Amino acid sequence: MPQWKRMRRPQIDAMDRKKIVVLPVAAVEQHGPHLPLDTDCVIGEAIAARLDEALKGQMLILPTQAVGCSEHHMAFAGSLTLEHESFRRTVIDTVRSVIRHGFGRVLILNSHGGNHAINAVIGEQLGQQFPEAQIVVANWWSPAVKALAEIREGALGSVGHACEFETSLMLALEPDMVDMDSAIDDGKLHRVEAMRLDMLHAPAASQYRPFHQQTTHGVYGTPSLASAEKGQRVLEAVVESLRALLVELWPDMP
Ligand SMILES: [Zn+2]
Repeated sequence: MPQWKRMRRPQIDAMDRKKIVVLPVAAVEQHGPHLPLDTDCVIGEAIAARLDEALKGQMLILPTQAVGCSEHHMAFAGSLTLEHESFRRTVIDTVRSVIRHGFGRVLILNSHGGNHAINAVIGEQLGQQFPEAQIVVANWWSPAVKALAEIREGALGSVGHACEFETSLMLALEPDMVDMDSAIDDGKLHRVEAMRLDMLHAPAASQYRPFHQQTTHGVYGTPSLASAEKGQRVLEAVVESLRALLVELWPDMP
């Protein structure tokens, strides 16, 4: 896998500047009693690696921004968090470094809902600062929402956090790190229908709620519906949607 940090300087020097530089941004935070804290890192890195395979080695993958914006998870042990401003500056500085070395195609690949809002700001600020570059921000699930809706079995609320999908992905990627005996279905939908959220369903209106108000066990969703086979299907759908998006965006990939 073409990892930025594993290259020697002459290799970077010689690299085609049309390569897509990917920055996985994730979280180190509680994922219920059954998944490890680095679940979002594992998922983001696996998707980036498979996407590079699907694009036949068009990508250069930066070190994952492992710690994200997880203030809403801090009531649960193990969660680490950056303030929005620290995260914004870190991501912008990393991408700016890449641009200074002459690369202009950047994908910020997000695997954590708590980074979503600030990522939109980061995308706007980088776009304004570097109009000659093309900086794309995407959650792994967003381009694949339609395909993923076909795969889910649970109702609204089954796919959220440490849920039907994240648990399935971890069963597919790192089954030894999953303790299914302790997996608990949990999560309270918002009492206002228009404010009910789910990974595949952006609500019409939103209100900040810390996670401990939405769940007792740190799970929002239905891990009991998870399987490795479902995780594999999710991976394939996500990689295909991202691949199609990037090919359409950059048809002249080297
Ligand atoms: Zn997660």
